Amino acid sequence: MTYTDTRNRAVKTDFRTAVLNGMSKETGGLYIPTEFPVLPQAFLNKTPEPGFREIAFNMAKPFVEGEIPDSDLMGIINAAYPFSAPVVPVDRTSYVLELFHGPTCAFKDFGARFMARVMSYFNKDENSPLHILVATSGDTGSAVGSAFHNVPGLDVTILYPEGKISPLQEKQLSTFDGNVRALRVKGTFDDCQKLVKTAFTDESLRATLRLSSANSINISRLLPQSFYYMYSSLVVRARAWLDSKIENPAIIAVVPSGNFGNLTSGLIAREMGAPIDGFVAATNSNRTIPDWIFSGEYRARASVATLANAMDVGAPSNYERIAAMYNLEQVRSLFASYWLDDEGIIQSIRHCYEKTGYTIDPHGSVAWKAWYDIKTDAMKKLLSGEKNDIAKPGLTPNIPAWAKKAAEKQAVGIILETAHPAKFGETVKKATGSSPVIPDRLEKIMKLPDRAEPMENDYEKFKTWLLENLQK
Ligand SMILES: *Cc1c(COP(=O)(O)O)cnc(C)c1O
Repeated sequence: MTYTDTRNRAVKTDFRTAVLNGMSKETGGLYIPTEFPVLPQAFLNKTPEPGFREIAFNMAKPFVEGEIPDSDLMGIINAAYPFSAPVVPVDRTSYVLELFHGPTCAFKDFGARFMARVMSYFNKDENSPLHILVATSGDTGSAVGSAFHNVPGLDVTILYPEGKISPLQEKQLSTFDGNVRALRVKGTFDDCQKLVKTAFTDESLRATLRLSSANSINISRLLPQSFYYMYSSLVVRARAWLDSKIENPAIIAVVPSGNFGNLTSGLIAREMGAPIDGFVAATNSNRTIPDWIFSGEYRARASVATLANAMDVGAPSNYERIAAMYNLEQVRSLFASYWLDDEGIIQSIRHCYEKTGYTIDPHGSVAWKAWYDIKTDAMKKLLSGEKNDIAKPGLTPNIPAWAKKAAEKQAVGIILETAHPAKFGETVKKATGSSPVIPDRLEKIMKLPDRAEPMENDYEKFKTWLLENLQK
């Protein structure tokens, strides 16, 4: 497979370069594959449908062709995914795709674990470690730390702002030993990011240490997220008739979004043959994408803090990939969009719990409510000319190609549940009255000793620390 650059289509590069560079050095653009091969019909129509790892292997294969042999790819996939993505029916026409069964209880494990093993694979012939530096405001740091922990040839340093992340998040990124270290920076997230960025541009440091990033824009985090879209849509297609008594329902993936990496992965799965008829781009009050779909004008803005904080993004990085793959008309025909404020998030968690008995986290709750409204009457109203005010929470006034099927109740939804509700226990308790059960793997982490080291917000001190502590 060759990869190109969203800002310069003349760029052609291989997977290894795209993964190790993260973003295009010349243009600052993002890498995308030049094509999305459709999987063979015989594979897509297999009964019973293929399992998660079989799908993962078959989808990853064309993207690494000629660079990672089949047996090594199989090894990477088996090591990355000792867990899967269960599809849980919650009512006749709604399925929750649980993406929190990985070690950090959030969907980012799917991307980060594949990326870690691919980077390790590409680094195996080097005789010095590759040092990953990550600045985090919480979620990314734990997924990356956990994914790279004990992966050979790689070494991770996580920087996080002291006192600005939740106690559970802090435990999740500061309790590793061995090749993953955490620095508790006296400053803000932006200060952490600045320290990391300065290190990347420091020629004298880079002459001594091999540095890389594990950014969410990395193509090796995006591709593996497409696996669970393929898997869940095949599962839902196979069982939808039994659950809903709808013949050939439209299958809609409803995605709680921030940087839109997750949703972009869904687009890739659909290109490769996943039976997905459309998407719902669901956001919190950071409604840059719903506004774009409505007005046709893309306007990035500063983010605002919400209860679904992993989606607090005002300038979604993957907008650039979506706009490179499709024009505005195609986006409008494929996507419905929807947004909710904090009050709506609390109500949705409660609403889902009361309607179905399912405890959903604040991020997934946005998707739950979007789907519930669409399949009950919001899309019907929109088709009859009743438009929601874009400045108010709810369905964006845009009519996708699948709107009629949804309005006529001929559609089923796959709601992506991106985090375990126990990660946001307080918000969930406020909504439902009871605290979610904490999974063992989170409970264990709370008991581990904190190993983070303090760090001044001072580049020279940070550099000295790197040179003294990292292996050259
Ligand atoms: C990161 C994250 C999101 C947003 O995903 P994007 O790919 O940035 O759109 C949603 N929910 C949770 C729990 C997350 O951690």
